[in-house]
Amino acid sequence: MDRRNFLKAGGAATAASALAACGGNAPAPSTGGVAAPEIKLHWKMVTAWPANFPGLGTGAAKVGELIGRMSGGRLTVKVYGAGELVPAFEVFDAVSAGTAEMGHSGPYYWKGKAEAVQFFCAVPFGMNAQEQNGWLYHGGGLELWRELYARFDLIPFPAGNTGVQLAGWFRKEIASVADLKGLKMRIPGLGGEVLARLGGAPVNIPGGELYTAMQTGTIDATEWVGPYNDLAFGLNKVARYAYYPGWHEPGPTLECMVNKRAFEALPEDLQAIVEAACRAVNDDMLADYTAANQRALETLIDEHGVQLKKLPDDVLAALREASAAVLDELAAKDEFTRRVYASFKAFRDGARRWHEVSEVAYYAARG
Ligand code: CA
Repeated sequence: MDRRNFLKAGGAATAASALAACGGNAPAPSTGGVAAPEIKLHWKMVTAWPANFPGLGTGAAKVGELIGRMSGGRLTVKVYGAGELVPAFEVFDAVSAGTAEMGHSGPYYWKGKAEAVQFFCAVPFGMNAQEQNGWLYHGGGLELWRELYARFDLIPFPAGNTGVQLAGWFRKEIASVADLKGLKMRIPGLGGEVLARLGGAPVNIPGGELYTAMQTGTIDATEWVGPYNDLAFGLNKVARYAYYPGWHEPGPTLECMVNKRAFEALPEDLQAIVEAACRAVNDDMLADYTAANQRALETLIDEHGVQLKKLPDDVLAALREASAAVLDELAAKDEFTRRVYASFKAFRDGARRWHEVSEVAYYAARG
């Protein structure tokens, strides 16, 4: 074995053992010290984000870059921003059909395919990033997600999390539940359904179009992500008030979906590399947001004079009550969604009990 092939085999073994160490279930590569045959594969990744958009687009790019580096160039991934190959909201269909082998997006964009996708992404008053990862990797969540996506010839991998988001940007103050009535707001997924329950008019618009939609008055309010990303889009220039907390997206999981046939055609070591790259970015993106959000928050307040406000307690209480009703109705729609909700809810209740005496108690103690 020459040095180059030795490094390749070693790299594959490292990736596989890293995966085994973090709970992945892929078997060890079967090359057994023999150099893998020379292959060069070139994949396309379509995304729901503007190319290299901070956090989201750069996270997607990092998945592609890591796969190329970890595989020693045997599998390279060209990453496309929203609209470059397919529009943001056609990522799912493009990867399902094999037009692109991979896609990076938010699972809740695909609720028209199956309502249950929303549990794998963001649930109003649901789990934070830490809890979401616990459920997906070690609480049965990812198995359910894979079962669902198999219907569409897709394999999902958690591949990013923003942490708790902001509640959004509003041109007018939200002083009571009545202020939500008739409010045209960009808010996708279950959060939008909850807003509708309280008289609002939710819409979903790709991130790249939010500034214009706010500027032209197509919408009255929008949520996007948080200080880091909202500053990048200049949302502070089109709305006076930023509200918190992001009750609707307490720790949204982003996804890297892979076409099932393309994935299954890979040798086992490259499969392990794809999985490990997604896992690395799932972790790294949260770290990126944790660092960048605090810097951007300072800029928004100190340099741009943004008025940051907490949603009134009675508004949050009404949203919480409406969320419970929306979730119960959602779970009653079909057997699979009922199973996912049962699994999600059991994990969330357990996490709440433990986190009351760990995370929550610590935050309160830290002051
Ligand atoms: Ca959001």
